Amino acid sequence: MKITVLSGGVGGARFISGLLAATRRDDEITVIGNTADDLWLFGLRVCPDLDTVMYTLGGGIDPERKWGRTDETWNAKDELIAYGADRTWFGLGDRDLATHLVRSEMLRAGEGLAAVTRRLCERWQPGVRLLPMTEDEVETHIAIDGTGPDGRDVIHFQEYWIRLRAEVPVRDVVIRGAETATAGPGVVDAILDAEVVVLPPSNPIVSTGAILSVGQIADAVRSTAAPVVGVSPIIGGGAVRGMADQLLTGLAIELSASGVARHLGARSDGGVLDGWLVDTSDAAQLAAVEAAGLVGRAVPLYMSDDATTAQLARDTLDLAGAVAGSSAA
Ligand code: GDP
Ligand code: CA
Repeated sequence: MKITVLSGGVGGARFISGLLAATRRDDEITVIGNTADDLWLFGLRVCPDLDTVMYTLGGGIDPERKWGRTDETWNAKDELIAYGADRTWFGLGDRDLATHLVRSEMLRAGEGLAAVTRRLCERWQPGVRLLPMTEDEVETHIAIDGTGPDGRDVIHFQEYWIRLRAEVPVRDVVIRGAETATAGPGVVDAILDAEVVVLPPSNPIVSTGAILSVGQIADAVRSTAAPVVGVSPIIGGGAVRGMADQLLTGLAIELSASGVARHLGARSDGGVLDGWLVDTSDAAQLAAVEAAGLVGRAVPLYMSDDATTAQLARDTLDLAGAVAGSSAA
């Protein structure tokens, strides 16, 4: 089976680990990774979501933090602080730095981000094909109405999330560069050739939303013959972790599983989804999900351990099968 997943960082990576456990070795899983969180830091290109997926699936992730490397040390960061360098709020660990050094050197030598990511994955063997959504520089910025440092109105997503801890009100989210970006190598084909396309429980605005802000990717998702199914990142009126709550509220999107489903929309109605999983505690929202034109099911959505995460992946594939069956009928 060919499965293509549009993934952010932590939520997406965890889901994909379940998908690997729930599928067979000869199933082909392609992950289209969000690159709109990427940034230049000290001359290095940092790709937090690609690295979270790569480290999580490759066994290199810090199990407590859920980002960055195991057994990390922070000597370089401490030295940067001692110099009074800018932007030391970003967590650049010593081990992690090597990834950014290899990536940045390859980019400077003229390699594309897809080839660079392939090279990094040769070490980590994530068990999936990891494709950057685009090789163009796309960056998420958050409009915050002058409440930020130095009274700035618009700041990079990482500054909003890490430095300001998502504690200032959001007025708007701008995926800069998306309108002119083209899909990365292999991305459109991976969606068109898939047998199932999955939107995992990633942030619907800055992760899957950013991936879908690339026009060629949204068009491919709208037109693929594969069923497109998603897992709600919102359970019972809140994000399990992360800053989806603040972003959805800032954009006046209802903070609920069905609110996100309506925001993404049914493919039969110009949107990107055919099916949507909500948590069992949100079963009362299935009527609203179905009223939005989606096939809905309620199953446990907390990825609390490996077994429940693998079961969630199986439930997602079951839903895709049901969607495909009902459209064939
Ligand atoms: P990020 O790039 O590291 O923020 O990661 P993602 O965008 O892939 O995932 C973040 C989202 O995952 C958060 O907004 C949460 O709502 C969601 N999430 C995290 N853990 C879980 C979980 O156990 N179950 C579900 N359904 N959603 C989760
Ligand atoms: Ca991210």
